[in-house]
Amino acid sequence: MNAQIPAGTNRTSRCRIVVIGAGFAGMAAVRALSDSDADITLVDRNNHHLFQPFLFQVATSILEPAEIATPIRSLLRELPNVRVEMREATRIDLSRRAVVMNEGDDLAYDILVVATGAQTSYFGHELEWSQHALGLKSLGDAVAARNRLLRAFERAELEPDPVKQARDMTVVVVGGGPTGVAITGTISEFTRRTLASDFRNIDLSKARVVLIQSGPRLLPAFSERHSAYATRALEDQGVEVKLGVPVTYVDATGVVVGDEHIAAATVLWCTGVQGVPLARTLGAHVKPDGRVGVLHDFSVPEHPECFVIGDAAYVIGPDGRPVPGLVSVAQDQGRYVGRLIAARLASAADPKPYEAFAPSKLATISRHVGVAEFRGRSIIGSAAWLLWGLLHLRTLSGGGHAKLSILGNWVRLLTTYRRSGRLIVEPSALGKGRGGHAPAVKEIGEDTAIWRR
Ligand SMILES: Cc1cc2nc3c(=O)[nH]c(=O)nc-3n(C[C@H](O)[C@H](O)[C@H](O)COP(=O)(O)OP(=O)(O)OC[C@H]3O[C@@H](n4cnc5c(N)ncnc54)[C@H](O)[C@@H]3O)c2cc1C
Repeated sequence: MNAQIPAGTNRTSRCRIVVIGAGFAGMAAVRALSDSDADITLVDRNNHHLFQPFLFQVATSILEPAEIATPIRSLLRELPNVRVEMREATRIDLSRRAVVMNEGDDLAYDILVVATGAQTSYFGHELEWSQHALGLKSLGDAVAARNRLLRAFERAELEPDPVKQARDMTVVVVGGGPTGVAITGTISEFTRRTLASDFRNIDLSKARVVLIQSGPRLLPAFSERHSAYATRALEDQGVEVKLGVPVTYVDATGVVVGDEHIAAATVLWCTGVQGVPLARTLGAHVKPDGRVGVLHDFSVPEHPECFVIGDAAYVIGPDGRPVPGLVSVAQDQGRYVGRLIAARLASAADPKPYEAFAPSKLATISRHVGVAEFRGRSIIGSAAWLLWGLLHLRTLSGGGHAKLSILGNWVRLLTTYRRSGRLIVEPSALGKGRGGHAPAVKEIGEDTAIWRR
């Protein structure tokens, strides 16, 4: 065993590796370790691996939750040396080499891989704003956003007061990055094309969709040409794009942006990420945004037995800027650390030092239009959308059935604007179905309070 693997590792028994997080980074690390002589425990607070890039399509009724998430156990059933535990890690005790869990015994490790991803940041307003402005990080978030959106239009159909009706028919999206742009374009099409023919009392052409971006342009990671294209494409669809103005207040009535109050029943928060609270328990190496500063091999300084990868890690790329949180980056880091640990366990030479790469940039704007910077080429329009779709489908881990099902939904959307997932599914409805006493959900915001952990 390489000297960099901790001296305390028990060499007479198999090495205990704990991986926290079954996202893209954690799964890639586990797979790279599958042939190693070690007992691996993969811990996740959910029972599924989630394909986050398609969350906005669940939130906008294009896809169903089961199409974008797969049980972790089924993905790893072929790997005999991997145990899966559905638990939440609450603290890492580096000195004891143990992970403290929300329930049950602590997990002792010889080697720890932290791959816990990131969470939505409300820039210090978590408690006040998160119940009104829905984030988009988990399946629960996407279903809550879908419920909120659909329920607002159902309410508008019955609302006699034109002021309240206008508020129910207004959607605000905060954040002009790829997720904000994608969900705004999709909602705009949804209201004007899909819902328009289904309602009798409301005029869906009057639905207001507003995209707010605090910076001077949409898609700031892309070229100016792409930003301009995205702005024009959204405006052509009737979206109000507000640039260079931050949101300063959010409550149940809507948002304040600059000196304007926008009354909106649906506010979606698609900006800002920060490390999860668990990462902060690693102490001194945690950056202000909650991500963990790591060495070149992704280990925590002075702890060669503890690695942090994926969105949880703060890594500087070749351009001197922090590497972006992307699926391809997380998978690449996971594979690298898995191979590194496997080599050290086998007393082989370390793989060559990790080299960050310049990832492709892809963004979708509506059901058939996007922008891409792919292998040095700039692509705009339907070709970019197609590339986005194909590359993401290739990465989806749900197997052929899920991919075919998604393709079918996309073709239906392209040809008819119809969406299969237009169901309001909330705990009260589930409770009633089982004969239980469901909580009354009257106030905006209660749906998320129930779904949110
Ligand atoms: C809405 C949205 C759209 C996106 N679109 C794109 C896109 O188009 N293209 C792209 O490349 N990237 C996209 N991303 C980013 C991409 O999804 C992330 O970069 C990627 O998921 C990071 O992988 P990860 O393994 O680091 O973290 P994650 O995939 O987030 O996985 C982290 C895992 O850790 C688990 N976990 C966290 N804390 C604990 C704990 N305390 N105990 C136990 N388990 C825990 C979580 O349940 C989760 O399963 C998008 C992200 C979002 C939110």
